[in-house]
Amino acid sequence: MHKLDRHMRIGIIGAGMSGASAAHYLKQKGYTRITLLEKDDSAGGKCHSIHYRGRTYEMGALIGLPTSRHTIELMKEYGLEEKGPLLERGFFDNEGRKISQIPVGLVQEFAKEFKRLPQLLGRYQKLQEPGFLGLPPELCRPFAEWCDENGLPVTMEVFRHYFSTFGFGSVENTPAAYVLKFLSYENLLSFIEITHMITWPSGVRELIRRMADRIEDLRLTCEVRRMEPQSSGEIRVETDHEAFTFDKVIYTGPMHQLGRLLDLPPEDVELLSLIRHERFRVYAYSVRDLPPHSGYLPENLQPGRNGDMMAWYYRWKSREANDLVTIYVMENEKLSDAEIRENIEATLKRLGGTSIRLFMMKSWLHFPHVGAEALRSGFYERLDRLQGQRGIYYAGELFNFPTLERCAAYSKHLVERFFSE
Ligand SMILES: Cc1cc2nc3c(=O)[nH]c(=O)nc-3n(C[C@H](O)[C@H](O)[C@H](O)COP(=O)(O)OP(=O)(O)OC[C@H]3O[C@@H](n4cnc5c(N)ncnc54)[C@H](O)[C@@H]3O)c2cc1C
Repeated sequence: MHKLDRHMRIGIIGAGMSGASAAHYLKQKGYTRITLLEKDDSAGGKCHSIHYRGRTYEMGALIGLPTSRHTIELMKEYGLEEKGPLLERGFFDNEGRKISQIPVGLVQEFAKEFKRLPQLLGRYQKLQEPGFLGLPPELCRPFAEWCDENGLPVTMEVFRHYFSTFGFGSVENTPAAYVLKFLSYENLLSFIEITHMITWPSGVRELIRRMADRIEDLRLTCEVRRMEPQSSGEIRVETDHEAFTFDKVIYTGPMHQLGRLLDLPPEDVELLSLIRHERFRVYAYSVRDLPPHSGYLPENLQPGRNGDMMAWYYRWKSREANDLVTIYVMENEKLSDAEIRENIEATLKRLGGTSIRLFMMKSWLHFPHVGAEALRSGFYERLDRLQGQRGIYYAGELFNFPTLERCAAYSKHLVERFFSE
């Protein structure tokens, strides 16, 4: 079969942003026989919008940025252009007093550091392209070391605010490549100037649902258990419900679980064992009398504070008494669920909260990534060699950072690279 036969059977595993957008871009190229296999009972993955008393709330992805070109294009294409409320945020101490993001005594120093940033980050333009191939060695080092080397102690704290509240862990450990991929200069500015963030009133999951709906052969509650490349070049895919035969497969599920689905040589098993995650929780509370807009608690973003609430978000500007507030916490394996909840509720009280009632909690295995050593020794180059082996391709968060935009951009890149003339 010709590689680019538009009628080849393509199986896509996972109907999150990566899988649904891969299906979209393949359709755009004229591919006609796409099957989308999803283990859950709805498309969305980490786009997990819920309904509560007639309004949507986000228990997973919640915002886009003006630089989210692919996401904005997709939203437009699928009729989801209406913008949600702006996320007005402030910084607070743990007693609920408003504080300035940068301590007053450090403002001048910050201004000096910030002036140097465009030129400094300008060196890493390639980082904004899909993937992590060919990283300069200095970006494999933990971000805190990179800041130290470049004389950016105050700026590092500003990066910490926007990196850690999204559940990406500490800037002390995470390689600079990931931090700067997420917080390019333009993205950092969008966070600082709050008016630039985008939310979607009908919920971000609606985008994935609409993309998945356009795929003729969508299968839900259909977990892939095995992928078996055949000597014919086809791939047999076994699911809970039935077995499929495809000419090509795009896998967008968790890469650390790939070895359960596919026989891999020991060196690939070893490679995938290097993947780490962060454990990130979103709590939805009904609570009254909190400060009037969303907030960050910088004290709780410091190392050793896992298990304390890092931020809270209101979703709707015209707030009603029973609106939910979402609260973001890193898990702490030394604390039980009840202790984490006690921590949150004690902080809510200190912030002025009353009538505190937990509606739901969602725990995520978040931010697949590797450490500095693995990056330095060419993790992504080795990962890239898996692409197309035995007819199977890969996309998803690990490949280009866990944001909607990066996932969509990587899926598009994959389609351009392997499924286009
Ligand atoms: C709490 C939280 C907040 C976030 N906030 C933002 C934000 O504000 N802005 C932003 O841009 N991004 C945000 N993100 C990140 C963003 O949501 C994700 O990076 C993105 O949605 C990931 O898409 P994906 O398709 O790669 O993975 P997933 O969404 O994880 O999708 C993978 C899909 O594959 C399915 N699957 C897995 N294994 C199998 C199998 N064996 N068979 C069949 N199906 C399978 C899963 O069920 C899932 O549906 C956030 C993430 C979280 C957790």
